[in-house]
Amino acid sequence: MTKAFFLDRDGVINENPHPINHVGQFVFIPGALEAIRTLHERGYKVFVVTNQGGVGLGYMKREALAEIHNYMEEKIKEAGGMLAEILACTHKPQEGCTCRKPEPGMIFDLIKRYNIEPSKSYMVGDFYTDIQAGHRAGLKTVYIGKENLKGKEPQPDYVFGSLAEAVASLVGTSEHHI
Ligand SMILES: [Mg+2]
Ligand SMILES: [Zn+2]
Repeated sequence: MTKAFFLDRDGVINENPHPINHVGQFVFIPGALEAIRTLHERGYKVFVVTNQGGVGLGYMKREALAEIHNYMEEKIKEAGGMLAEILACTHKPQEGCTCRKPEPGMIFDLIKRYNIEPSKSYMVGDFYTDIQAGHRAGLKTVYIGKENLKGKEPQPDYVFGSLAEAVASLVGTSEHHI
């Protein structure tokens, strides 16, 4: 069975001071590209599972989202990393779909199609809803956000300051330098 990292996008891979509706607004968080490369080198499949309700709400066209994801994927490849697949829930937030996190639909879909072993795999997110989705899918959960999670149940399995810190601690560092 395959081990994997499921990454939320906004706030994990890219900065999100405001909703990202255009490729020109997409800025990688320092260390994120290197961390994804490390995951690839260490044999993890890397997936992105992202809520993009702005599409359903009409703030962003599907073409703009595709352009953002093409750019992200290209830069990750240039840095020596690899994404196995990007899944985005583009439903409206209140639509009641089974894919918008905290629902685990996107993760379940990928686990099934890629024969992923959940207990050897991680969900990394900066919102508590990422932790809920990961937990419901049976993944180990890694929180890198700024919300106060005191009293929330379940608690994340790990808390770090960034994807780079999480990967360095859970997986190790890259085998070589750029
Ligand atoms: Mg996020
Ligand atoms: Zn959805």
